Amino acid sequence: MIDTLRLTAYDAARLLRDREISGAELWEAYRRAIDERDGELHCFLHVCDDPGGEGIPLAVKDVIGTKGIPTTAGSKILEGYVPVYDATVVRRAKEGHGLRVLGKTNTDEFAMGSSTENSAFGPSRNPWDPTRVPGGSGGGSAAAVSAGLAPWALGSDTGGSIKQPSALCGNVGLRPTYGTVSRYGVVAFASSLDQVGPVAKNVRDCAFLYSVIAGRDPCDSTTVDVPEVKLPERVDLKGVRIGVPTEFTEHEAIEPGVRDAVHRAIELARELGAEVGGCSLPLSLEYGVPCYYLIAPAEASSNLARYDGVRYGHRTAEGGDRLEMYTRTRDEGFGDEPKRRILVGTYALSAGYYDAYYGQAQKVRTVLIREHAAAFETFDVLLTPTSPTVAFELGAKTADPIAMYLNDLLTIPSCMAGLPGLNVPCGLSGGLPVGLQLLGPQFSESTLFAVGYALETAIGFDPVPLPLRGGRLR
Ligand code: GLN
Repeated sequence: MIDTLRLTAYDAARLLRDREISGAELWEAYRRAIDERDGELHCFLHVCDDPGGEGIPLAVKDVIGTKGIPTTAGSKILEGYVPVYDATVVRRAKEGHGLRVLGKTNTDEFAMGSSTENSAFGPSRNPWDPTRVPGGSGGGSAAAVSAGLAPWALGSDTGGSIKQPSALCGNVGLRPTYGTVSRYGVVAFASSLDQVGPVAKNVRDCAFLYSVIAGRDPCDSTTVDVPEVKLPERVDLKGVRIGVPTEFTEHEAIEPGVRDAVHRAIELARELGAEVGGCSLPLSLEYGVPCYYLIAPAEASSNLARYDGVRYGHRTAEGGDRLEMYTRTRDEGFGDEPKRRILVGTYALSAGYYDAYYGQAQKVRTVLIREHAAAFETFDVLLTPTSPTVAFELGAKTADPIAMYLNDLLTIPSCMAGLPGLNVPCGLSGGLPVGLQLLGPQFSESTLFAVGYALETAIGFDPVPLPLRGGRLR
């Protein structure tokens, strides 16, 4: 019997290679797990039929276009849309390694949110405690990996949507350096920030999946040539300089249980031979979130202008002239959060306000880039908590958009600076996972994997959710 709760992609590849299991058996094991548990967890918006072959199954966040498979971005306005081509990341996964798309995972509408509660198709639930959110926007992918419904997944991250759900569900998730992974065929949210990245059970699987999807793509002119990805091996941290930005570890929004788990990991890093020192990124923490909530909505208001009922998805059934058709279609198709961001973003870009809001935010962004660059003159990586809290109850923050936005307090600043970040689980608080965030300079993914792997090995975190341990479920 294949134990999908514990099976890593690496192990699955070995079992397939040695013909201990067949591709069909592996697919079947995940389908059984989905049938058993997804009714409660609602990780998937669409589950695929086995396309055949011996490749490892892969869950794909529903903002990533998949040929012949519905792609909704968690929005009613894209209901019924079936792409005629694969996103480059999906094509690479299929062609390079025969990976098979298992299904499309739930997301906040257009990846706007931190809990999946903004999905037009209902929220996902956290396998560690189904009364709680799995984080967002990629909560479906994170919950699926942690509940053994998929060995790994692709997510997208604009301000934290891979890192934060990985933290809340106890996975390893990478937001890659801006420009290393193609966005061709991916539903655009905020184009100067959006990145696709891997979610996995451990650092090695995460590193491998990153190596599959990374690389220059002529179809996405923001991509560049990417240094070769080194899979991690060393379990010590001798000579690695780790900076701990005090604002990020001591901020009042950080729960004591999160702070304790991260401090224990910092101690472990010292024991493994790292040179740990304090540092400071004060402006990044103060201005990261406000600045993001000008730039991301501004870009979203432009990107979402294409949903007009003409080419894709939903069109109003009401009559009227062309302008009425656009207006009704958008009113019916978009949920509250995209509407809020379109309004804010349009305002920030409008004549007379552009300089005061959007232009000013761009200048602040440059300050954040410099502040991070200065820290990396002294340190190889920075270590912070990923999320200020563990997974919260469904409904706890839905009435207060600002409270929801503050989930990304610690993940947003480095995204604004275009830098990579890796979430690694570092313990439990009240029976729920805590994640630490490793940040590095541009193109430092292999370093993040190396440091993450050493810490992961020392921490010994068991990624199987407590309620699913004990052999109750296969
Ligand atoms: N939670 C943030 C937002 O709502 C980030 C989402 C993301 O990274 N896609 O915009």
